[in-house]
Amino acid sequence: MKLEGIHHITAITGDAPGNVDFYARVLGLRLVKKTVNQDDPTVYHLFYADEKGSAGSDLTFFEYPGARPGRAGAGMVHTIVWRVASPASIGFWAERLAAEGVESLREDARLRFADPEGLAHELAVDESGDDPLIADHPEVPAEHALRGFDTVRAFSARPEASRALLEDVLGFERDGDAYEARGERRGGRYVYDDPPEQAGVQSAGTVHHVAWASGMDEHEAWQQRLRQAGAQVTPVIDRFYFRSIYFREPSGVLFEIATLGPGFATDEDAEHLGERLSLPPNFERYRDQVERTLTPIQNPRLTRTS
Ligand code: ZN
Repeated sequence: MKLEGIHHITAITGDAPGNVDFYARVLGLRLVKKTVNQDDPTVYHLFYADEKGSAGSDLTFFEYPGARPGRAGAGMVHTIVWRVASPASIGFWAERLAAEGVESLREDARLRFADPEGLAHELAVDESGDDPLIADHPEVPAEHALRGFDTVRAFSARPEASRALLEDVLGFERDGDAYEARGERRGGRYVYDDPPEQAGVQSAGTVHHVAWASGMDEHEAWQQRLRQAGAQVTPVIDRFYFRSIYFREPSGVLFEIATLGPGFATDEDAEHLGERLSLPPNFERYRDQVERTLTPIQNPRLTRTS
């Protein structure tokens, strides 16, 4: 039983329109699902991914309208590392971001930048051999498109405390300063850095949790294994597009294990993912009210002329 790398990463935005503009237009990801927070249907839960809405490329945001920028501290993910094909792709993104007024820093074959609310990203040349997970975008040639997640970097004051859970329970392999969760199809990495002195503030521009991918029929077994290892793990929760369990790893980072299915095409046609507001069945009768309450956002795919 192996985890198949990173399933999704969930972060927080205080500005849904600006968030869609940055991720769907500037970074060229596909908005694959526009739905509401299942705990608060007056705010969005936005999902960006590759063309098919694949796990491994899925970055999601809870909208807290008007939330001020937070900051990452100990026990929080601070940087999302994406794969790109080549050093030429790093050059492409350095230019594209500069043209959008986004500062970036090029170091070796890496490019660091942040989203408008301060969430840090890094692009790295893909050496994984995994299938690239890319979205179509008229201004981003396929050979330079983001190819899915490579690594999440988190701050930990005592990374050794996490070692037993990561290696013995979750089956991550240690490789230098990185841990890797690699299954039959994909891998994803997890790296700790020394935390800043200031405590973190969970707000806009910070990561809420990282989810690791499990096969559909192994999910229950992961829940049992974590429980037997003494982790405070939730029961299985049905998120419609996948099933989830949550627990905090010893360094304080909120982990989820999510199933590779049923996927985003369960409630809308794969060709039209994310175009309409998707509501859980029990919220469908409040659709008019919910649509009036939500901040209007512009999906760049629906305004393209070509
Ligand atoms: Zn999640």
